[in-house]
Amino acid sequence: MVQTYDRLRTALEQGTTTCEAITQNYLSTIYEKQHLNAFLAVYEDYALNTARSIDEKMKRGTAGPLAGMVVAVKDNICIKDRTVTCGSRMLEHFVSLYDATVIQKLKDADAIIIGKTNLDEFAMGSSSENSAFGRVKHPLKNEYVPGGSSGGSAVAVATGMSTTALGSDTGGSIRQPAAFCGVVGLKPTYGRVSRFGLVAYASSFDVIGPLGNCVIDVARVLQVIAGHDEKDSTSAYVPVPEYLIDIHKDITGLRVGLPKEYFDESLNSEIRSAIESAVNVLERNGVIVQEVSLPHTKYAIATYYILVTAEASSNLARYDGARYGYRSQNATDLYSLYVKSRSEGFGEEVKRRIMLGTYVLSAGYYDAYYRKGQKVRRLIRDEFQQVFQEIDCLLTPTSPTTAFKAGEKLKNPLEMYLSDIYTTSANLAGIPGISIPWGVDTNGMPIGVQLLAPQFGEPLLLRIAHFLESHRTM
Ligand code: GLN
Repeated sequence: MVQTYDRLRTALEQGTTTCEAITQNYLSTIYEKQHLNAFLAVYEDYALNTARSIDEKMKRGTAGPLAGMVVAVKDNICIKDRTVTCGSRMLEHFVSLYDATVIQKLKDADAIIIGKTNLDEFAMGSSSENSAFGRVKHPLKNEYVPGGSSGGSAVAVATGMSTTALGSDTGGSIRQPAAFCGVVGLKPTYGRVSRFGLVAYASSFDVIGPLGNCVIDVARVLQVIAGHDEKDSTSAYVPVPEYLIDIHKDITGLRVGLPKEYFDESLNSEIRSAIESAVNVLERNGVIVQEVSLPHTKYAIATYYILVTAEASSNLARYDGARYGYRSQNATDLYSLYVKSRSEGFGEEVKRRIMLGTYVLSAGYYDAYYRKGQKVRRLIRDEFQQVFQEIDCLLTPTSPTTAFKAGEKLKNPLEMYLSDIYTTSANLAGIPGISIPWGVDTNGMPIGVQLLAPQFGEPLLLRIAHFLESHRTM
């Protein structure tokens, strides 16, 4: 059963349900819908035991802010004494030595962690087809993809296998699967949420964020997981505001920009109409909508794929068969241990990224690609800052298409990379973005619209998103 946290919490407080019953319900759905392959591990005993102890706390009146919220966690986030596979053979049997900071915070808030969700290997992909443990299926049409890389998390939330989920977003991996599955996905400002315990893909882009069935649910999770962490030196010292205080506030007089570069020919016409209908809702309610320009948008995909592959090639160097994860049984010396463990342990897409990244970092190409990429990244960031002088937030499509068929883009990596065309800029600039559902296409597949705000502009982002959500016309 798909339900928002507020309804569950009210039912808990009125005594009409228990955390145990709620958890049991989600577990039944997980087992019923196993064919979707959304979960890589289910913590049945742990979840039920935790639920019972939170029921006791409810009785005593000492339950935390997320009591009874059942959370599914993308399997690239560490939970102590549990495997963290990253969807890879490389880490298939690797057990986490500690809790990620976000996990510790969720536990402290009395959320119930129900299991680990499937993903593209090391979060590299846009379709959840790159998992070593099989692809995740779209709940509405099983031959379609749910988006990626946090596909399992999006499916869990969309089908009532959990109340909310955690994902990670390096170039769109929370927002795009949220759009494809018809749920809300929030990518916070870079540094807003600690990355301690998130397995690194591209460290200057990666951020953990929530997926949920409504804007308020993701705001509640953000409230708990946000904040500086001494274990992550890139987490920001910026104080965490109360995200729910202004969420219902009127939005009259706010300015929303439509970046014209996001509305070119590659955009599907039904998604374009969805944006137009969202614009109508905003304008009817006193919001000033205006066209703006972000001319460097056309370089975003190239810049993104140069910089993330460079960072990935460096981050993934640690999987050498000696210290972490998979170790080839066919090695004859140290060198062949490295080569064989990496060749056998990593999948196609991960190898492609490591090679691309090693190339752009190599002597002779470093200046032409990596250094230049860094410069363009700065230009893209500055351009957003400039535009945010005039407007409060941007409205764009989340993805150029709705969910596509499994296998459709697998043979053509470039086409797959282009599905990130509207999401990667936010990661290049470090700004927050949210995708909310806005109707379906003629095929019945959900459409997502994206809002982008300046760094640490989550309060305003959530407010406008919540407004749109409560005035949904399609
Ligand atoms: N699809 C993008 C990529 O493959 C985004 C991935 C992500 O955000 N983790 O890099």
